[in-house]
Amino acid sequence: MKKYRIAVLPGDGIGPEIVREAVKVLGGVAERAGVRFELEEGFVGGAAYDRFGTPLPDQVMELALSSDAVLLGAVGGPKWEPLDYSVRPERGLLGLRSGLGLYANLRPVVVFEDLLDASPLKPDIVRGIDFLIVRELLGDAYFGKPRGVRIENGQRIGINTMVYTETEIRRIAKMAFGIAQTRRKKLLSVDKANVLEMTGLWREVVTEVGRDYPDVALQHMYVDNCAMQLIRNPVQFDVIVTTNMFGDILSDEASMLTGSLGMLPSASLGEKTAMYEPSHGSAPDIAGKDIANPLATILSAAMMLRYSLEMLEEAALVEKSVRTVLKEGFRTQDIRQEGAVVVGTAEMGDRVAEKVRTLPA
Ligand code: NAD
Repeated sequence: MKKYRIAVLPGDGIGPEIVREAVKVLGGVAERAGVRFELEEGFVGGAAYDRFGTPLPDQVMELALSSDAVLLGAVGGPKWEPLDYSVRPERGLLGLRSGLGLYANLRPVVVFEDLLDASPLKPDIVRGIDFLIVRELLGDAYFGKPRGVRIENGQRIGINTMVYTETEIRRIAKMAFGIAQTRRKKLLSVDKANVLEMTGLWREVVTEVGRDYPDVALQHMYVDNCAMQLIRNPVQFDVIVTTNMFGDILSDEASMLTGSLGMLPSASLGEKTAMYEPSHGSAPDIAGKDIANPLATILSAAMMLRYSLEMLEEAALVEKSVRTVLKEGFRTQDIRQEGAVVVGTAEMGDRVAEKVRTLPA
C-alpha cells in the first residue's frame, strides 16, 4: 500500500476545527484510493509559543522538511498580539515559508454555481470563473535592498527596491507553464513593463521560457489593466503568473469575486515540501463554536492531492464532493442563503467525507 507522510499543523483559533474536517476528508480519500496517509501533528503559531516559547519549534520544521506535504490551519489571535514581533505567531508561518523555500503561492479562484449570490458582482459576470493566480513569493520589493527610511537633506526618504534575478523569474515561469499545461493551456503574465525596467526583464524571461512550452498560449498584460479586467471580464482568465507585490494585490482583489473567504484554498510550492492552507486567518471571533467554514481547508487538501501527491482523480473527487454538498443545499453560517440548511463545521466535514466515499467515479 502506498504511504504518504503529511505534517498536520492546526495552529490557532479555528485552525484545529477546520483541519480536523480536512483530515476526515483525507480519511475518505485513503479508503477510496487504497493508500495510507501517515499524519503527524505539530504545534505552530501561538499554540507552539504557549508550549515551547517559540512559534516554530525546531522539531516542527524538521517534521515539515521530512514530510510529503504540510497541511496548515491558521495562526494568530489577540492573545499573542502583545508579544515581540520575533515570537509572534505569524513568524512561525514566515519561518515555514522560508525554511521550505516556498517561492510560489497558488490561489485558485472558483465561483461555485450554487454560491453565485455570495459575490458582490452580478451573477452574469462571475458565472463560470475558474482561474488560478501564481504569485512569486520570495522576491520583489518585499525582500529587495536597499530598503528603509532615512534622513537625507533634512527630510525623511523612504526606499524599497523591486528586484528579480533572471533565475528567480525563470523558476516561477516554468512552474506556471507546467500548471497551465494541466489546465486550459492559457498563461497570462502580468507586469508593468511600460514603466518598470525590472518587469520588462520579467516579460522577456517569461517569453523565453515560453519557447519550451509551445502548447501553452502566452499573453502579457499590464497590472493596471489586469486589475480592471478582473472585475470587467474575469471569466477570460485561466492561469495568471505575476510578481510578489502585484500578486499580493491581485489575489486579494480576485478573492472578492467569490465573496466568501471561507471557500478559498491556497498552496505554496517551492524547492522542498509544499504547504497547503486556507487563504483566511484564524478567525478568533468564531473559534470553538462549530460555525467555521471548513471548505477552504478541505479544498486546500484537494490541492495537496493534486500538486504534492499526484492524486489527480482524488483531488477532483474532493472538489466534486464539495460542489455536491453545496448543491444539496447545505451551508455553513458564513455562506448561508435563503432556503438552505445551515450546518456546523463538523457536519459539513462529515458530509463532504461521506461524498468522497460514495460518489460514483
Ligand atoms: P480572518 O481571516 O481570521 O477573519 C476575517 C473575518 O472572516 C472574521 O469575521 C472571521 O470570523 C471570518 N472568517 C474567516 N475564516 C472563516 C471561516 N473559515 N469560516 C467562517 N468565517 C470565517 O482575518 P482577521 O480577523 O484579520 O485575523 C484574525 C487572526 O488571523 C489575526 O491574528 C491574523 O494575524 C491571523 N491571520 C492569519 C493568517 C494565516 O494564518 N495564514 C492569515 C490572515 C490572518
